[in-house]
Formats: sequence, C-alpha cells, structure tokens
Amino acid sequence: MKHRDGKFDRRAFLKITTVGGAAAMTLAIPRKGMAEDAAKSLEFRTLGRTEMKVAIVGIGALKITEPAIFQAAFERGVNYVDTARGYLNGNSEKVVGQALKGYRDKVYVATKFKLGTKEHMLGQFEESLRCLETDYVDVIQVHNLKSKGEAMDPVAKEVITQLKKEGKVRYAGVTTHSNEVEVAQALIDDPDNFYDVLLIKYNFQSPPEIKQVIQKAAEKNIGIVAMKTQNGGYQGKEWADVSPHQAALKWVLQDKNVALAVPGMNDLAEVMEDTAVMRAPLLTSEEKRLLERYGAYLEARSCRLCGECNSTCPNGVDIQEVNRCLMYAEGYRDIHLAKQTFREIPAAFSVERCTSCQRCSAKCVRGLDIAARMRRAQELFA
Ligand code: SF4
Ligand code: SF4
Repeated sequence: MKHRDGKFDRRAFLKITTVGGAAAMTLAIPRKGMAEDAAKSLEFRTLGRTEMKVAIVGIGALKITEPAIFQAAFERGVNYVDTARGYLNGNSEKVVGQALKGYRDKVYVATKFKLGTKEHMLGQFEESLRCLETDYVDVIQVHNLKSKGEAMDPVAKEVITQLKKEGKVRYAGVTTHSNEVEVAQALIDDPDNFYDVLLIKYNFQSPPEIKQVIQKAAEKNIGIVAMKTQNGGYQGKEWADVSPHQAALKWVLQDKNVALAVPGMNDLAEVMEDTAVMRAPLLTSEEKRLLERYGAYLEARSCRLCGECNSTCPNGVDIQEVNRCLMYAEGYRDIHLAKQTFREIPAAFSVERCTSCQRCSAKCVRGLDIAARMRRAQELFA
C-alpha cells in the first residue's frame, strides 16, 4: 500500500492506547488477520521520531529461508521485519517479499544498502524494491557503519533524500556493529537530525557506554532497534531444559529507550519463544539468575565484538570481524552465513595475514586466545 502525503492507513487496523509514558502502547483491538490469542496485551512503542508504532519484538531476516516463519511471527503480532540487500546472498528480500503477500499493509519493512557511489546505492535500493515486491520501504538503513565519517556520508544522505522525495522511502536509518558509540554519537550530533533510526548491537553483556549512548540517542528522538540481543545464541548442554534466550530478550526490552528488538527466528519454535516475550516482557528474578549463569558460560567462549583488539594486531587483521564470522558458525550454527561474511573481509584485513606471523601479539581485553581463534577461523572458512 503506497503512502499518501506521508501518512499511512495502519490506524485502520490498529487502535492503540497509551499505557504509561509516551512510548509504551497497548493494542486494544486485534489486528486484521491476527490470531485471536495474539491480540492479548501486546506492548507497542513508538520508534523515535517516526510515526511507527512497533510491537516490541520484530523479526530479523538474516537467516530465514521460509516465508511461513515470517507469517507465523506476523500472526503472533510482530509488525516489523528487518532485512538487508546482502542477506542470504541477496535472497533474503525475495523470501520477505513472499512472506509479505497479504501482510504488506500491516507490517513495517526495513532493509539496508551499503555505502558506495550514488549509482551503486540507488541500484541496490531498486533491486531491494524488486525483490521485496513493494513500491516503498518504511526504513532504509545504511549498513554496517564504523565511523563518524561513514555516518555522515553526504552521498548516502543525498540518495536517501531523493528516495524520500520519490515516495520510495519513509525514514532513514543506519546500522552499526563496531565502533558503535562513535557512529551513534555522530547521529546525535548531526545538526540536520537526518537519521531517524539506529539499529545497534545491544545485549546483557554490552558495556555501559552502549546503554549510555542509546539513552542519548533516544533523547534526541532517534528510534532504537536492538540486534544481537542474545549475544550469539550459543547453545550448550547446560541449557538442555531452559532457554536463556527469552531472558536475554527481556533484558534488552527492560530499557524503555529501546523501541524494539529484532531477533532472528529460525523455526516455528523460536517464533513462539521470542513472540511470547511480547506478552510478558518483565524479567523475573529467576531469569536474572539464569542470565548471570548464561553470561558466565559465554564469558569463556564468546567474543563481545568490542573491536578493542584490532589496533593491537601489527598486521591489520580485522580480528573483530573474523570473530563475528566465528559467532555465526559456532553461535548461530550457520556456516553458510559465516563463510559469506568471511569472504567479504577485504584482503588487507584478512586472517590470511596470520599465516606468516611468527608470534601473535594481539591482545583481547577479555583474555581470549586470539591466535587460537584466528587459526580456528582459517580451519573453518579457508
Ligand atoms: S597472529 Fe595475531 S598478531 Fe599475527 S597477524 Fe594474526 S592476529 Fe595479528
Ligand atoms: S577478541 Fe576480545 S578485544 Fe577483540 S573484539 Fe573480541 S572481546 Fe573484544
């Protein structure tokens, strides 16, 4: 459904009432097409300065290959889907496009393109529209920004301004996986207030600076979307009967500066697990204890992707990015995504450089064995 004069008709489907604070909203009338039990006590929040009232749990499309997974989430009340031009080798948007049939006017769609020339960015975007089988997206995000310079790239702003004028984009956003504080601060300091949405990695193990910059961004009415909320989704024998993932999702949603989280949902069981949080987002004391145990479990195994080690490698290896690939392989258990992401690391920052390095002098702030992890990446991805 194309928007008219910047206004959308979603209120025809939703009657929303404020229940506490400007951002907290509750669905009062079931949305058309939503299963009956899904209408109970869903919490909605306003996404920053946009007009979008989003259910607090959205769906991240990174690994989903079946339209039915999305549709099951939509039926449970999810109304925000986050994809990207590059996900699934360019196929994710096609799957989302299939899933949106019958739902496009009920679900907000966010996608992403990479920085480049004006022609390259416009080309990526047109391909996104084609694959999504829609004539607009709600949020276009400039993908994986790592610095203030990238966040304020004038060509990206020019492209998005043009797309807005053409009615193909409603709101502008950025995503960041590394150097997040600098990127977020650039948005906060931007005199143009150009970007409306920030998709940022945020979980119960994030350092305090992330929480602080999220608060500052929210105070500037930038809509906060949280990703990587489960810090890799690692499985272990310790969690045979209980899932710490709901608790991790709830931890993020306790922060009212976050409008919604977009966890990946690989199957219907994960759809049920994550969407249940929309009806009971309060973190119980038992879940807090569970998170502490889960945190200790991860502490010994996972990289926090903080990027502090990158400057300690004399050969310029992008250790953080290599670790992200390992997280995809070992946490998400998605070797395809891991290999694809690994191939995207430029040769100048590749783990290949470790091969001729006599002794690893790179240091992890958490004491992880970087040399061993780089060797593991070479074994898995070479
Ligand atoms: S072994 Fe360590 S110091 Fe050497 S190139 Fe690899 S990450 Fe850098
Ligand atoms: S290896 Fe250590 S320092 Fe490097 S990104 Fe991971 S947690 Fe941070």
